[in-house]
Amino acid sequence: MAQEASERPRGTATSGRDLVLDSVVKRFTDFTAVDDVSLTIPAGSFFALLGPSGCGKTTTLRMIAGLEQPTSGTISIGGEDVTRLAPHQRQVNTVFQSYALFPHMSVLDNVAFGLRRRRVSGTQEKAKAALDMVELGHLGARRPFQLSGGQQQRVALARALVNRPAVLLLDEPLGALDMKLRRQMQVELKAIQTDVGLTFIHVTHDQEEAMTMADTVAVMNKGRVEQLGPPRELYELPKTAFVANFLGKSNLMQGSVQEDLGGMIGVDVAGVRVLVPKDRATTHSGRVVAGVRPEKMRILEASDPVPDGVNQLLGDVVDASFTGISTEYLVDAPGVGLVGTFSQNLGQKPAAPGDKVRLVWDPEYTFGLAGDEDAAEGVDAV
Ligand code: ADP
Ligand code: MG
Repeated sequence: MAQEASERPRGTATSGRDLVLDSVVKRFTDFTAVDDVSLTIPAGSFFALLGPSGCGKTTTLRMIAGLEQPTSGTISIGGEDVTRLAPHQRQVNTVFQSYALFPHMSVLDNVAFGLRRRRVSGTQEKAKAALDMVELGHLGARRPFQLSGGQQQRVALARALVNRPAVLLLDEPLGALDMKLRRQMQVELKAIQTDVGLTFIHVTHDQEEAMTMADTVAVMNKGRVEQLGPPRELYELPKTAFVANFLGKSNLMQGSVQEDLGGMIGVDVAGVRVLVPKDRATTHSGRVVAGVRPEKMRILEASDPVPDGVNQLLGDVVDASFTGISTEYLVDAPGVGLVGTFSQNLGQKPAAPGDKVRLVWDPEYTFGLAGDEDAAEGVDAV
């Protein structure tokens, strides 16, 4: 086995190295942490696994890394089944939130460590090049404690990149950084990934982080992938209440289908007709949850003329918070409940608590979910 391992081709990332998880399950005694996950992650893509704490993200990464064995299912890289291979036999490297740098070594030696152990030639030059890539080439002689948190995280990244793995796993790598540095590192990490062209699998519970960085986001909930797609597609067209609520905010309204209008269904929501495009609805009959993102709504005075062809709800403003860029409103719509919206600060007179208002939006922005979806699912998930 050891012999075989040392003869395996390594150290190069080639194209056609898609990572495939097929029906992967991980059970811990009686608890199912990962529940039948199937994914194809194209080589060279920036892929985010997004979900609340405890949904199975780290367990999924650990199985890809070989640190955990799936209870069932297979994992392959570039068509090769790696499910039973030891971690060092896979072309995979992991960057953790805790940087785990060697304190007694210089930054350059930290980066060179893996290469040296594998007796790769040109160790110094390769380590130096990896440090340059994360813009720390000038700090190679320092010890880790002489660097800031953000710089240490970059060293950890360089240490993983220098091995040129086919797949780089990042488990909440920016979690220890403060918000400003975090945003800056998101941009840098994305730029580095584009540069090196390796597959990055980035685990995070921060939806903004996942959307900013990833080509494809898989939203996980309770050990399952609920929905997968490009960030914009997930945001504009969520297929479950969990995705609608966890990825940004949504107004979800219980109703039942009353009319079939060709391209649209007419949904009765508390006595009001809400139009939903059929191609944006997972169900076309019976009970339906109609949804719309807060920023797609406009807030009008109840006495204003109603624009043509809009969906609308009447209600009373219960809260108005001025944030500078916009004013955020909570509107109580009878029979529907609290609806959130905001309007950009264009100098108009804001609505105030107690005002009667009309919320209007283009039916094209509405989405329809299955009627048994719990409208509160994922609202408070972190
Ligand atoms: P995430 O990274 O999304 O926060 P994890 O993958 O770490 O979630 O954990 C998923 C679930 O599996 C959690 O409920 C966690 O308690 C459980 N879990 C993880 N590792 C073990 C283990 N070794 N034994 C038992 N339960 C575990
Ligand atoms: Mg985790």
